[in-house]
Amino acid sequence: MVLEQLQRLSVLSKIDEQIEELREELGELPFEVEEQEKRVRTKQAEFDENEAQIKAAKDTQAKGNQEIQSLKDEVERLRSQQGDVRNNREYDAISNELATCEKKQDEISSSIAQARMTEENLSKRGEDLETALNELKERLSELEGELNSLSDSQSTEMTDLISHRNKLVDELSSEWRLQYDRITEYHVDAVVEVRRGSCTGCFSVVPPQAIVEMRKFQKIHECEQCGRILYPEEMPEETFGIDI
Ligand SMILES: [Zn+2]
Repeated sequence: MVLEQLQRLSVLSKIDEQIEELREELGELPFEVEEQEKRVRTKQAEFDENEAQIKAAKDTQAKGNQEIQSLKDEVERLRSQQGDVRNNREYDAISNELATCEKKQDEISSSIAQARMTEENLSKRGEDLETALNELKERLSELEGELNSLSDSQSTEMTDLISHRNKLVDELSSEWRLQYDRITEYHVDAVVEVRRGSCTGCFSVVPPQAIVEMRKFQKIHECEQCGRILYPEEMPEETFGIDI
């Protein structure tokens, strides 16, 4: 029966449009998640590098402080030695050593001060990096959540649609099944209504005589312009128990 074939084709087309929509919804998300993961990794590497530099600055300060301490001990030892000298030559020799120690102390002190300033700057930068990193991670988990919930609800919906689709296709004549597949290579909406005398797929005018024939449901008509299967506005609605 032509009417029933046409009704099945129309429901099939609506199901296929929904399947296509679902595919598109999911389409961009996996890509976005991947991109966001990349951003997180890059920022994490920047943060780690900054932390390593902070540690190096701290080590420089700790090592410098140790060196200063041992220089102080040395200065104390030299001063007490200076009290026990027997002649000017010995006194001058120790004075020279003391001067060298003090010069070293100054050099180390200034490198400690420099390392401290570096540490402060890096710490401030580290705070900014951490904030940025956390924001990126938050967005990533949002996207992952979206993807997961979408895939879950999607796969249920998809399974449902596909099982309905299979049932409909089984009941179609093989001639129209092939014809339908051929049209869907070009148009997702392979079966469309004729509204106000026009094909709602390509909006071209359908000859009035064709519409008159269509209403008799004696054969299935296709749009002369776009090749989509056409059905008249007056086609009785039948969904074959499928909620679409
Ligand atoms: Zn058309």
